[in-house]
Amino acid sequence: SKARGRNCYQFFSADMQEEAQHKRRLLEELRVALAEQQFELYFQPIVALNSDSEPMPVHKAEALIRWNHPERGVVSPGEFIHVIEEAGLIRELSQWIMQQTVETVSQWYQQGCANIQISVNTSPSQFNDGGKWIDDWIHALALYEIPAHSIIIEITENVLMTTDDSIKHQLSRLQHRGMDVAIDDFGVGYSSLAYLQQLDINLLKIDRSFIQPLSEDQDSVALVRAIVTMAHHLGLKVVAEGVETEQQWQQVLNVACDYVQGYIVSKPMTKDAFYQRYLSQYQQA
Ligand code: C2E
Ligand code: MG
Ligand code: MG
Ligand code: MG
Repeated sequence: SKARGRNCYQFFSADMQEEAQHKRRLLEELRVALAEQQFELYFQPIVALNSDSEPMPVHKAEALIRWNHPERGVVSPGEFIHVIEEAGLIRELSQWIMQQTVETVSQWYQQGCANIQISVNTSPSQFNDGGKWIDDWIHALALYEIPAHSIIIEITENVLMTTDDSIKHQLSRLQHRGMDVAIDDFGVGYSSLAYLQQLDINLLKIDRSFIQPLSEDQDSVALVRAIVTMAHHLGLKVVAEGVETEQQWQQVLNVACDYVQGYIVSKPMTKDAFYQRYLSQYQQA
């Protein structure tokens, strides 16, 4: 058993070496990607559930990053965001995301869509700069002359857990400046609704893992219903993430979620495709 133990150790160590090498290569490629702008923002519609107009006007969308890798094609953020974050490059990437978002919104405004809101993801480490990233947003919004209300800042629950009091202050500043704030992936972290009450937020996005079992499982219906009821008491609107089936759609409607985001409406799509599909027909003169 000792021999086997040693073998295991060797396997483990070889794996780790390979893993480390893979990460180094990935990081090198990511530096190039940043320098050469190989990233692209996709957009996924967020639709209001209580609307019965046909087709439903889309006022909100989430911006989701993609990496157009020269050989591998389109790479999902799950494969690279954590590497960027660990390498301390998140500020650079966030700046690019902000710039692209503001440019895109400004373009859509000029094309006549005055009430679109774009939801932008943040990384936990962004909050460690004492709020300078918020100044960047304020400058960018002013430069492109678009209202702060056209931006929703998404934060994950672990941001609320890992940082000090300064997070509360940063959320208040965002609100004070007119941006909306959403809690992303709600339910998978440890924040309680009671804690959320102390924070300046507007939206709760219920994680996909709570939405997917809705079709089969009455307990999860009760759970989501309870989250929505509490959220509404706190004055928050609720987005159901990852709705894929008609049954799930019916359930989130039954429990009074306010918005749906999911493949049942649309997968994330390129900026131009999103404009063509969802915005071009709602242009105001
Ligand atoms: P997220 O913010 O929770 O985004 C929702 C994810 O769920 C997206 O994955 C979206 O494509 C996917 N999704 C939406 N509807 C459905 C559905 O009906 N079924 C299924 N199976 N999936 C659905 P994506 O684009 O791969 O992004 C993954 C995560 O990467 C995001 O989760 C977010 O945490 C992070 N991320 C994406 N873009 C950015 C960004 O610009 N900045 C930062 N910091 N993180 C980002
Ligand atoms: Mg998100
Ligand atoms: Mg607000
Ligand atoms: Mg989410």
